Amino acid sequence: MISPFIGRRAASRVTVGGITIGGSAPVAVQSMTNTDTADIAATARQVFELAQAGSELVRITVNTSEAAAAVPRIRARLDALGCNVPLIGDFHYNGHRLLTEFPECAQVLDKYRINPGNVGKNRSGEDQFAVMVDAASRYHKPVRIGVNWGSLDQQLVARMMDENANLAQPKDVGEVTREALIVSALQSASRAEELGLPHEHIVLSCKVSEVQDLIAVYRELARRCDYPLHLGLTEAGMGSKGIVASTAAIAVLLQEGIGDTIRVSLTPEPGGDRTQEVVVAQEILQTMGLRAFAPMVTACPGCGRTTSTVFQELAQSIQAHLRARMPQWRKQYTGVEEMKVAVMGCIVNGPGESKLANIGISLPGTGESPAAPVYVDGEKVTTLRGENIAADFTRIVDEYVAKTYSRL
Ligand code: SF4
Repeated sequence: MISPFIGRRAASRVTVGGITIGGSAPVAVQSMTNTDTADIAATARQVFELAQAGSELVRITVNTSEAAAAVPRIRARLDALGCNVPLIGDFHYNGHRLLTEFPECAQVLDKYRINPGNVGKNRSGEDQFAVMVDAASRYHKPVRIGVNWGSLDQQLVARMMDENANLAQPKDVGEVTREALIVSALQSASRAEELGLPHEHIVLSCKVSEVQDLIAVYRELARRCDYPLHLGLTEAGMGSKGIVASTAAIAVLLQEGIGDTIRVSLTPEPGGDRTQEVVVAQEILQTMGLRAFAPMVTACPGCGRTTSTVFQELAQSIQAHLRARMPQWRKQYTGVEEMKVAVMGCIVNGPGESKLANIGISLPGTGESPAAPVYVDGEKVTTLRGENIAADFTRIVDEYVAKTYSRL
């Protein structure tokens, strides 16, 4: 059984919907929709897909009256589908107005995200931050105070830059900006508590887009407070760059016990699948040994000893099969998410790696006899041959799951 990593971890615990964040709770996976929230059907569908993929919290933007009016109906659709994933409302600029004018929206959301960089006093002197915190207190909702490099409170930055310029030995601009992020988050949290929001209703984040900046900022933030921290590299980018940058930053911090929820902010390929960010977040946690979400496939990289694509196709199809079956398996079986499957390209490392997995197959390399030995719990149980190796191996995996992880 894999235990959640316990390091520094936040002392404070926040409950969002039915999910506990902070304390010794497992690091939770979060994601965010990219649909127009006013489009009820599309947003409910995408939230459902993200939740099915394993997102434990889903954030939706609430940017207009239409979006705010749609939120209760999105919640109702999800409930009708049996999907109880907590919904977080992402507010900028007009959140004070929307939370006031749309009480049903304020009520059904499980958490509000407030960006202190874009809620200040408006022309009529209305304190927008206080209005949002009041709504959170009234509806007993937790809040994430989410500071972002790209929308940092410019008055605060200007003041801190001036103060820095007057020092005998001024710090560099990057250091002052990082400090401004932290100060913005901590001062906003203190103010929220002064306004009546309980300490255990506050989560913080300080997102930046560079790996070393993120690590430096969160180390310092974690040192100065005990609030649960939401972790993620903002604007991580597309494809492998986004995955690598997010993983590099998040993994270093998680290893130090910093981070209570994570999000991988990938830019999807055109027409790409939004759920990829959930899979990557889960795989970061699982490959670090912090949590288990779905069986993982160990596969060798292949080399000149296996020139056919059969082995790559089998590794891909087995991984896809395991992920596709997981929503059902999760309901039916216990511990299946920790199963290890090996798909190896030839006899050099194939049998050895297969024996270390719960189930492993070693395909024939170039020049080897066309046979694929299958190992179950370290023992060779059969040898597959012919055209149907993939289907036969998939069947063996399914049978193993039913036999080994059944709750009955
Ligand atoms: S297991 Fe065989 S095919 Fe795979 S990388 Fe090693 S030598 Fe190459």
